[in-house]
Amino acid sequence: MNPAWAIENFLEVENKHLHIGGVSAVGLTEKYGTPLFVFSEQRIKHNINRLRRAEKVIDCRLKICYAAKANSNMAILRVVLESGADLEVNSGGELWKALKIGFAPEQIIFNGTSKEIWELEDAINAEIYAIQVDSLFELALIEETAQRLGKRANVSLRLVPEIETKTHSGLQTALLTSKFGMMPDEALSAFHIYKDSNFLNLCGVHLHIGSQNPESAPYMHAIHLLFENLVKIYNETGTRLTHINLGGGFPVNYLRDDSHTLHFPPAQREMFAADFEPSDAIADAWIAVKTAAARADTAHLLENLTLLLEPGRSIISDAGVCLTTVRNIKERPLPDINQSLKKITQETRREYLDEYGVSLGQTRTSFGVYEVKRGLVHPNIKSVVWLLTDAGFNILLSMETYKWYYHLISAERADEKHNFPYKLAGPLCDGGDVYFDIEGEARLPDYRLLPDNVQPNEILALLNCGAYSIAQMFQYNGRFLPAIVLIRENGETELIRKRDGFEDLITNEVF
Ligand code: PLP
Repeated sequence: MNPAWAIENFLEVENKHLHIGGVSAVGLTEKYGTPLFVFSEQRIKHNINRLRRAEKVIDCRLKICYAAKANSNMAILRVVLESGADLEVNSGGELWKALKIGFAPEQIIFNGTSKEIWELEDAINAEIYAIQVDSLFELALIEETAQRLGKRANVSLRLVPEIETKTHSGLQTALLTSKFGMMPDEALSAFHIYKDSNFLNLCGVHLHIGSQNPESAPYMHAIHLLFENLVKIYNETGTRLTHINLGGGFPVNYLRDDSHTLHFPPAQREMFAADFEPSDAIADAWIAVKTAAARADTAHLLENLTLLLEPGRSIISDAGVCLTTVRNIKERPLPDINQSLKKITQETRREYLDEYGVSLGQTRTSFGVYEVKRGLVHPNIKSVVWLLTDAGFNILLSMETYKWYYHLISAERADEKHNFPYKLAGPLCDGGDVYFDIEGEARLPDYRLLPDNVQPNEILALLNCGAYSIAQMFQYNGRFLPAIVLIRENGETELIRKRDGFEDLITNEVF
């Protein structure tokens, strides 16, 4: 039987080993070393096409602008380009990368809260599809800059929609208290002020409700808000918008293998296990807006409109795997059960009780009644086994900042039962470089289940690591940034980033 994390033609088990796009993960580590990121071209394209399904249902043009911030490796950007998607960038640097790899200016939108003059100049000179404006101050700056350059800038105003989603607080971007965008009233006043400007083409409104949003309902709310503003802007200023931008934030199910599921507090679990079809959410939202528009006699404003999306995570996260080697092993006495139980939330305790009719305090294992009942825990655990890998938070920063969960498997024994609990940690000289919640708030499982008797040199794989990982990596502790490999659709393997060497550690240092 296939493991729960397997995905046909992408993540599979062959001869005991994890295969990625038909290529042996262990073979790749023998050639390129670890830590190693492996991406699948086929999976990236699959994810883009999955979103594109919405096109069939909505009767307006759909522009899928992949959010480069999730992963802007040049070869990855080329795959995105070749798949026909457009691009969202967040800095003059990302804009430069986008143009260099071959995106046409009309394929690019530019977000950001603190754009510098040179960045605005580059965007205006390139004549990109839209600069997404974060404030009235910035809008004035763009007009001034465009006038100086003798150009007309395409702009879209980013709204504060005040929509809360059930994601991590650091990933909420649409609240009054979030740092992004302007209030709808401010945006309306901007249309009054600049509608006849020779230097600004006010063509859209934009919002982004956050990342890894577990529910689809906020998208319905968000598109209604965009359309309400579009109507108001038309009625009050006569400006007819050519696009609305619903942002990104479509979730990835990080708990498709549910073996660790009950070790998460309910809110955390809901977020990590989020699993709705983005194209369905978009289609439902569009149909609702169309119906409302027809009722209000404003349907003509939907004609010739383009709907923009800015997905990052949902395109690249599950297309990337991080391979790591166990470099060290140690044993510690089992912690006091009462101490571990203190970390478990009241809700989880109640859930255990409801589900198994036994209270957590009645068991002598620190790994929870859940595993005992399912027969997952090794019967003879006498101590805690720690495995120290070569993948730390310098290459998977979200593990530290957001206590992000990446499912872990043995790449060498992918077919074996994963039922022995280990404590996992990375290589950094930093107590927070662990795969559990060091702050004791139980936002991550304390233990990871792997096959029996994992020893140093075994290759492990962290799944769903493609988003916000290599985009944020850094050389803390003088660690070489990893190599990255792309598995092509035809099964060929391409090195798309070389592993750092000694000289890379001092590039740009002056001494
Ligand atoms: N658009 C904007 C404005 C964002 O801030 C982000 C990420 O936070 C995205 C798009 C991409 O979000 P995600 O990767 O969750 O799809």
